[in-house]
Amino acid sequence: MSCPICDGETNVDYRPFCSKRCADIDLGKWLNGAYAVPSQDPEDLENALEQVERNPQTKH
Ligand SMILES: [Zn+2]
Repeated sequence: MSCPICDGETNVDYRPFCSKRCADIDLGKWLNGAYAVPSQDPEDLENALEQVERNPQTKH
């Protein structure tokens, strides 16, 4: 099994991801509705995560 974000080796602490970072990226994908966008570009995921970190409270 490998990390669904970066295809790296899964870390048992963060499975199915390899790290907290990749877990956060996956969460960011959900929060931004990025799953609706057919993109596998890692940079898009990075951008999505940055937006989440920049605006953590979307509901004010
Ligand atoms: Zn990863």
